[in-house]
Formats: sequence, C-alpha cells, structure tokens
Amino acid sequence: MVVNPTAIRIEVCSVCQLRCPLCPNIRGETAATIGMGYMPFEHFRRLINQNPQIRQVELGNFGEVFLNKDLPGILEYAYTRNVTTTIDEGANLNHSSEEALEALVKYQTAVVRCAIDGITQATYSQYRVGGDLKNVLRNIQKINRHKGRYQSSRPRLLFQFIIFGHNEHEIERAILLSRMLKMEISFKLNFFPDAMPVYNRDRVRQIVDYADRREYLEKEGVHYKRHQCYELWLSPQINWDGKLLGCSRNMWGVFGGNVFESGLMGAINNEKIRYAREMLMGRVPARGDMPCMKCSIYQSIATSGNWITEKEIKDAEVRNANAEGVCSK
Ligand code: SF4
Ligand code: SF4
Repeated sequence: MVVNPTAIRIEVCSVCQLRCPLCPNIRGETAATIGMGYMPFEHFRRLINQNPQIRQVELGNFGEVFLNKDLPGILEYAYTRNVTTTIDEGANLNHSSEEALEALVKYQTAVVRCAIDGITQATYSQYRVGGDLKNVLRNIQKINRHKGRYQSSRPRLLFQFIIFGHNEHEIERAILLSRMLKMEISFKLNFFPDAMPVYNRDRVRQIVDYADRREYLEKEGVHYKRHQCYELWLSPQINWDGKLLGCSRNMWGVFGGNVFESGLMGAINNEKIRYAREMLMGRVPARGDMPCMKCSIYQSIATSGNWITEKEIKDAEVRNANAEGVCSK
C-alpha cells in the first residue's frame, strides 16, 4: 500500500540533558539506531521545501527538542510555509532560550507536552534525574506570558504526569498545579509496570481506569500504545539524520532509505516499510529484518491475532484531522 501523508514526525534533537532511569537513551537502547544529534535548520528547510504536501510536523521523539539551537528558526520556517508544528511527544523544558519560548507562541506551535511527574523537587527529580522543577515552571510561565502578550491560545500546554509509586500521592495536587499553570493534565501509565510500580492500584484506577499497562492489555485486549503503529501510515517518523524510523517507538532498526538520499516519498514507500504495513495487518508472514519484531506492540498484535485494520487507520486519520494540529500520540 502506497501512502501519501500530510503529516510527518521529524526528531530535531535526540540529545537530552536529563537522566531519567527508564529512558531508552539512558538504558543505551537508542545508541545504535537513533544516535545523538540535531537536525540543522537547513536540513529541515530542505525537507519541507521538497515536500509541499506536508502540513503538520511533530518535532519530538527520543531527545529534548529545546536543546536544538535552531528551534526558533525551524518554528518560524514551518509557520511561513503553513506547516503546523507540535511538540506532543514530550519535552522536559528545563532549559530553553527566551527566543524559543517566544517562537512557540509567535509561530503558533499547536501543542507542547511537558513532562512534570511531581509537584515538589524531591518527587520530580526521582524520575527526572538532573532536572530542576523550578526551571520548568518558570519556562511554562514565560510561555503563558507570551501567550498573553500575543493574545494567543497556542500552544496548548499539556502537563504530562507519568504515574509511579513515588508520585501517586501528588496526583490531586498535580491537577491543581496544572490549572494554576493554565495547562491540561495528561496522565500516563509507566512504560515498565514492574519498575517504580504504583502502590495504591485502586487510587490509580480511579484516575486513569487501569493500574498499569499490563492491566490495560488484559481489559482492552490491545496494547496501550497500539496507536503508535498508525504512524507508519499517517505520520512516519524521521530521525534527526534523515533515517526512516517509521514510527516513534522504533529504536531497533531502519525501515529503509534515508529521506535525504531517496526523498521522503521514496523512503516511506520503499519495499521494507510497505511489507511492514502488510505484516501489521496480518496479510504477510513476519519477517526477521523488521524492527517490529523487537516491539512489544507487534508481539501483542501477533499473539492475539488482532491485526491493524484499514478502518482503524481511517478512523485515526479523521481523529487527527479533527484534533487541529494534535498528533496521534
Ligand atoms: S527527559 Fe525524556 S529524553 Fe530526557 S532523559 Fe528523560 S525520558 Fe529521556
Ligand atoms: S509494531 Fe512496528 S510500527 Fe508498531 S509501534 Fe512497534 S515498531 Fe512501530
């Protein structure tokens, strides 16, 4: 199946200054495929110029977007080309230039998702190791001041709180803090249910319906992050150096050519990624060279036989279009 999406995901910076213990970067899982680097403005400009069909770009993935010093120029260029930017994959927002914070508002970034997993420094830094909550809150307030000055509702600010055992007692106060900061709270279940597990499972269920991702799979019959597969069709992930990652979960290998060598359309429709799409729909056998073979989402799909369907992709496309600049994650 050939795709021609109007959205893509471009990681503009895979470097991060924090040391969150469960982060794939810190665990060394991203070293081989993702590596550490930045996409320079010039490469971003070229990619957008060569693909005028692109209307939306998510800028985050494995690193900290705000460490790319070209970010203000990237936001401005996207804006002038009528391309909506999002930072919905998450940012820690510990360090940012004033220029970048203003650019988010001035150039109408649709969403910024900020990781704030604690309302006290002691709790926050248990997971966001090396982070300073004061800096984060100050940067959020600066964005809010720019929003006031430009009389802008953009960017939507999301307060992402991953629920762990060490922060579950702060959930209610996190909701209050998010309101004070004019942010929307967004709770997320921990990637590894057995690492830093929640203690009061009933309390967590009251907030997000499930105590952890394992329980989500048992109740719903699908993986908590199944929707990440849709990105192969709707918003393929490009690494900072142009490698085609296909989706934002993939850190295990490439799906084919580099977009700077084979062009975006050539890369996202090469034989390997087309095979992967068919494989996820259960139409062709599993193939050993596919990054999906190492992914727990594919494993859950293949075990249950609950393959990705065309209707699901179509529905997600409609949802994304209605979400006005909010990507599928
Ligand atoms: S802030 Fe995000 S990218 Fe940085 S170490 Fe933590 S999880 Fe990884
Ligand atoms: S199964 Fe494949 S496409 Fe789906 S999230 Fe995993 S690596 Fe990505």
